[in-house]
Amino acid sequence: MSVQAKDLSAEDVIRVVGDHPDAATGVARWDIEGAFSAGFPPRVVNAKLVRLVRQGYLDGCAHSRGFQGCDGGFTVTPKGKARTEVCDGE
Ligand SMILES: [Zn+2]
Repeated sequence: MSVQAKDLSAEDVIRVVGDHPDAATGVARWDIEGAFSAGFPPRVVNAKLVRLVRQGYLDGCAHSRGFQGCDGGFTVTPKGKARTEVCDGE
């Protein structure tokens, strides 16, 4: 069994982007990959980023594979903020 993008919590990824010092200008994908490096390989984190951009929770340059030199520039959309706020009510 290898880990897959669905095993990675959308809320966790959105929070990492939203809490990053570069949240306003665009967070580099390798910073997001680094935040999950203990449990998830970069390709899984990338797949999740692509999915979250497609779903409208994040803005950024979501390549399905091979970002090459592109850092992605991820920011949280209002829809993404709303999703994490729902889960913050503990
Ligand atoms: Zn790009």
